[in-house]
Amino acid sequence: MLILSSPSGAGKTTLTRMLLQKEAIDLTLSVSVTTRPRRPSEIDGVHYHFLSVDRFRELRDAGDLLESAEVHGNFYGTPKGPVDALLSQGRDVLFDIDYQGTQQIRARARDDVATVFILPPSMRELRARLERRAEDRPEVIARRLEAARNEITRWTLYDYVLVNDDLQRTLGDVTAILAAERLRRLRTEPAVAGFVEALAAESR
Ligand code: 5GP
Repeated sequence: MLILSSPSGAGKTTLTRMLLQKEAIDLTLSVSVTTRPRRPSEIDGVHYHFLSVDRFRELRDAGDLLESAEVHGNFYGTPKGPVDALLSQGRDVLFDIDYQGTQQIRARARDDVATVFILPPSMRELRARLERRAEDRPEVIARRLEAARNEITRWTLYDYVLVNDDLQRTLGDVTAILAAERLRRLRTEPAVAGFVEALAAESR
């Protein structure tokens, strides 16, 4: 599980899209559920599963969410079924979730998670990006900027912290993190153990 978190507008969504489009990355995005209204550019089932607060509560209370949190006054959560299915096939899953969800997933699966926090180059740039996106009302943008000041203080919870002042370089860094994490001994142990046995058994 690879978790990317950042304040809204720090470039994480663009980064996620670029990462998933990169050849041979072999990563599947976990599509969250949310009670937030859909933005004009968003597609239900692709960017999020948009649902009512009642339906959200039903899923959460039935234990169908791997993690859930309230962010900027709306509920968000990760459907458990698709993630379990992917992991049991040995596939890697990418999550675009906040620090609260990151802590919950960490608590459940400490050894199977790598976490990356993306910082904006400056608060001025963050504001400019939110305004350029022009999909949220001014009061929503103001609320998100305020929330960003709180969110950036959570950087110490993460394994890796990147400042996104150059999208291509940040993409390169995330790709390198993914490659290194995949090679950690814990994750390759089953395959390597057999190989080492065969090496040891090879005639001198
Ligand atoms: P946005 O509304 O801009 O799409 O997302 C707002 C924040 O909610 C972002 O920080 C995003 O990472 C976070 N978020 C999106 N989906 C989930 C989720 O399933 N769980 C949690 N905990 N946070 C989420």
